[in-house]
Amino acid sequence: MRNPLLSYDEAAEQVNRFVLALATGTEIPAALGQPPSPAAPPTSRISELLPLESACGRVLATPITADRDQPAFPRSTRDGFACRAAEANTHGWLFQAGLVRAGQLPDRPLATGEILEIMTGATLPEGADCVLMLEHVEHGDGFVRQLVGRTIAPGDNFVPRGAECRVGDTLVPAGVRLTPAQIAVAAQCGYRELAVHPRPRVAILSSGDELVPHDQVPGPGQIRNSNTPMLAAMVAAAGAVPVPMAIVHDTPDALDSAIRAALEPAARIDLLLITGGISVGKFDLVAPALTRCGARFFFGGVAIQPGKPVAFGSLTRTAQPGSAPGPLPFFALPGNPISSAVTFQLFALPLLTALAEDTAIQPRFARARLIGTWKGKSGLMRFLPAWCDFQPHPTVQLIPWQGSGDLAAFAASNCYLVVPADKDTLEDAKSVTILLR
Ligand code: AMP
Ligand code: MG
Repeated sequence: MRNPLLSYDEAAEQVNRFVLALATGTEIPAALGQPPSPAAPPTSRISELLPLESACGRVLATPITADRDQPAFPRSTRDGFACRAAEANTHGWLFQAGLVRAGQLPDRPLATGEILEIMTGATLPEGADCVLMLEHVEHGDGFVRQLVGRTIAPGDNFVPRGAECRVGDTLVPAGVRLTPAQIAVAAQCGYRELAVHPRPRVAILSSGDELVPHDQVPGPGQIRNSNTPMLAAMVAAAGAVPVPMAIVHDTPDALDSAIRAALEPAARIDLLLITGGISVGKFDLVAPALTRCGARFFFGGVAIQPGKPVAFGSLTRTAQPGSAPGPLPFFALPGNPISSAVTFQLFALPLLTALAEDTAIQPRFARARLIGTWKGKSGLMRFLPAWCDFQPHPTVQLIPWQGSGDLAAFAASNCYLVVPADKDTLEDAKSVTILLR
């Protein structure tokens, strides 16, 4: 199968269309030259309940809502004195009516001419409309006044009841991958458990006659399989479950049976990644194997470098009694490690994010100032290993490399410099696009 190369944007659009079809349960867009077919969710999407302590990194299935106003009482944000701004601004002495600590309630409203010592986090007394900071007052025998030369406004140094949120407000919508900030807000609202989406399971199948498992010593001409551990790590970092499969030889039978194993309902695979064997060599047998297994291709080849041969399509899971055979999306990634990494990030990650029901947008591009220049041939959009320093503002430098098999250079990089397809030069000190990892 050799198709015209799509541009990066066209290929990304194919992935987006598939994602949209999955999300809406509508038909999956026609593959290259094939009729459309109805979509079905790849696996059952029953959420699970996790203790709050274990939920970080998972995708929220049910919104987090406020169980009370926040703050639930007018809360002082300073150690100081609760009073009326109008009285404080006269700089007259105010009678110190007592003290309120965090966790206590003032025992009565503030009377005219009074001031109440208050701690950070304590409840403002009724009648007060501001808190004078400790540092901004002077004391005289049971009386307190604002330092001359200072003024205060009503509303200063406390948060009114309900200013942060109201009872019943949605504080975190479903579809958010939980970070410590959302764990904190859930704790504030009294959640012991959170409903999260199941993690998609991703089969990783590396093909190549030259490959040995990474914990073995390669024989002459052999290399260690680095793609499976790398992709497993990328899948795990995306919040999904990697399902590494055994290395597959470059033979039609071996490829067919490995692909068919991933289609077994018992394997519960939501996404299939195959690396190697997708280029134009004599032993690049992955595309024909996928076709024999019933694949529909959405694209096969994108005008990018590295990663040009990448293919995307959909297989049909083996039917089982009582359930409809669902589509199994797949990506065939080129075997060169950096090609695999880039194409995973550009195309597989957005789909995986959607399968996880995570509403975040992937991939993530940003801007940085280039240090140095780049010269090359136009025609392909390039993703070159680079290092971005984010302080004091983002600057990016290329990491010298020997091409898409250079894992030493890859390991020394933290992003990719993106070269648009129509450019043959990037100039020093200009603003450029980077792909974040
Ligand atoms: P291929 O895409 O099969 O033509 O492979 C391209 C290059 O990537 C070759 O040099 C392969 O040896 C290398 N390669 C393929 N698969 C892997 C893998 N799983 N781990 C590391 N290198 C690989
Ligand atoms: Mg190969």
